[in-house]
Amino acid sequence: IKIKVTEIPIPVAFSSTYEGEIIRRGDMQVEFDGSRVDCFELVCTKEASEIEDHEFKLIGPDFDQMEVGSKQQIAYIVNVAGKNMQSDFEPVFERKFHSYLNCIEGVMHTGQRDMIRIRISKATFEAGFRAKDLAEVLYCNIMNEFDAVVDKCSVTIITDGVECTRLRHELAIPTYDRRDERLESLTDESVPVYYSCIMCQAFSPSHVCVVTPERLGLCGAVSWLDAKATNQLDPEGPCQVITKERVIDERLGRYEDVDEAVAKFSQGALEHVTLYSIMEDPMTSCGCFECICGIEPFSNGVIIANREYAGMTPLGMTFPDLASMTGGGVQTPGFMGHGKHFISSKKFMKAEGGIERIVWMPKDLKDQVSERLNKTAKELYGIDNFCDMVGDETIATDPETLLAFLTEKGHPALGMDPMM
Ligand code: SF4
Ligand code: ZN
Repeated sequence: IKIKVTEIPIPVAFSSTYEGEIIRRGDMQVEFDGSRVDCFELVCTKEASEIEDHEFKLIGPDFDQMEVGSKQQIAYIVNVAGKNMQSDFEPVFERKFHSYLNCIEGVMHTGQRDMIRIRISKATFEAGFRAKDLAEVLYCNIMNEFDAVVDKCSVTIITDGVECTRLRHELAIPTYDRRDERLESLTDESVPVYYSCIMCQAFSPSHVCVVTPERLGLCGAVSWLDAKATNQLDPEGPCQVITKERVIDERLGRYEDVDEAVAKFSQGALEHVTLYSIMEDPMTSCGCFECICGIEPFSNGVIIANREYAGMTPLGMTFPDLASMTGGGVQTPGFMGHGKHFISSKKFMKAEGGIERIVWMPKDLKDQVSERLNKTAKELYGIDNFCDMVGDETIATDPETLLAFLTEKGHPALGMDPMM
């Protein structure tokens, strides 16, 4: 018999009202910062015999043995077992940790995987909040939310620096890499179905993401494997199967099945959506795109701006300017929200010629995607070091300077057909 825990036995409140809570440096008891030191969060699937349900282990000092205001290391491993558990569910559970921890009064969590950052407030610490309470929150929520597949769960928290570092390298990173490789081996052609996602309809009522192996959700957080897992965990939930049997146009990624699904899930607001075009019936955008791609008429190309970029783009628009004309679940040909990972996809605006059209990106974004983007450019077009031809804000923030740079580099977009 599975018992649903409704009250989580911790010394502070647990509620979604704490989700946006900010903890300032002066109010914080301790901070864990995965961008500076080795930290991580991980779900591991185990055999039932390997787990003692509700067991909690702490390796290293508890919060009361940490200096006030200090930066520390933390890792937490949530072990789960269940007859219906699959390792493909692990990242779906892991992504929920963000909201679980943020629901704790006086706890702030950002990031995921080994780039997490957590702050615990002085008030919450003084109320008695310790490592075992953090474990309790993870345990109770996993058991509540995923009881269809999890029969047993145990949590290990590691605050010992040496152990955090060792386990990050020996356990966490290889696990993340394995997941990424699994996704990378899939193509849109190789899978039998796609998935819809309507998680954003709460604030963007007609928005539907169509998630394929080579095109993740525009938030960057829902891959095809995640959508598949979400569908299996909750068949009536936000991610539904979209068949792909009735192709209308391969080049555009136009399918009767996709159009039908989009019409249904947008309650008729959308009739046609293509998977691979930015000009013809592009996918809509809600508000949580990681990046926006927009047409740059002087070079026949497109620029991409990421959310973190605060400066100007050669279109004379900042990211917020671009966002205001791209979001809201409407189709705006020439502009499209997308995930960072999509930039190096062979399906990135394939209908208009693909990644060869990219003429400008903020430097920071370029650095993040260059390895993969260069690899795709080499595979698709035989171009070496493609990113060296792509402008950034240190080179140009106006179209004339950008065009001069692209001409000097011999950027392939200049020789392509105009996009409009
Ligand atoms: Fe789902 Fe992400 Fe698309 Fe929102 S943006 S509908 S969460 S895939
Ligand atoms: Zn969204």
